[in-house]
Amino acid sequence: MPVDHTKNIIEVKGLSFSYDGIDNVLEDVTLAIHQGDYIGIVGPNGSGKTTLLKSMLGLISPQKGTVELFSSDIRNFKDWHKIGYVPQKAVNFDANFPISVHEVVMMGRYGSKKLFQRISHEDKEAVEYALNQVGMWEHKDKLIGDLSGGQQQRVFIARALTNHPEVIFLDEPTTGVDKKTQDGFYALLQKLNKEIGITLVLVSHDIERMTREVMHIACVDKTLTCHISPEEYLAESELSDIAGNKVKFITHHHHN
Ligand code: ADP
Repeated sequence: MPVDHTKNIIEVKGLSFSYDGIDNVLEDVTLAIHQGDYIGIVGPNGSGKTTLLKSMLGLISPQKGTVELFSSDIRNFKDWHKIGYVPQKAVNFDANFPISVHEVVMMGRYGSKKLFQRISHEDKEAVEYALNQVGMWEHKDKLIGDLSGGQQQRVFIARALTNHPEVIFLDEPTTGVDKKTQDGFYALLQKLNKEIGITLVLVSHDIERMTREVMHIACVDKTLTCHISPEEYLAESELSDIAGNKVKFITHHHHN
């Protein structure tokens, strides 16, 4: 599905944020993310990527600037079911925690229910749909702690999918996952974006991987230092190489 540039899913304007009122971690960030987009937010450790993501999820409130979700100010936003979130460290689930794959994914439905409300037929269907989408339905009765890191990550994607979100935010989703498992994981993200049309916002420090996967790259280093296509990003980094500037990463060209 193509990107619809007329529809902003997220619009951040002039956002500045500081923890405890000390120096700004983010300064004057302005960024629009369109429907159907797949955007990688990149930058060195400590550059403010997670802070930006948390601002876009309403988990923290900026001291300056605004965030709009689906053209509504985040302070008045109510349609949280449209938004999925796969946080950092969703992997490495406590292996002794006795909860099944099925139960973890069902937890995704609790946000749209009142506490102790009965699990409905619709909930069960949503869980089955989500586990099938990520190829984990056959593992539904296993304990989450018995799965590999890559399988656990798919389960957390399934949990985010249970409410049929229009956008999913992911924070460093493949930390500690081996290369082959990462390949499968990124193939799943491509499917969610291209076939189901889910907008993806991914935070990563793996710039090389991002240039191969995403449609747009947003570079964060306190403020937004780029918002370009992977091709433009690669061309610019080659130019800075020629100019003798410090190259931040080694570029590998892959042909998919
Ligand atoms: P990134 O995701 O790019 O690694 P973060 O957004 O996590 O960066 O952090 C940006 C800066 O804010 C870092 O200097 C970090 O130490 C600081 N920081 C992050 N979270 C907190 C917090 N809860 N309290 C105080 N400082 C924080």
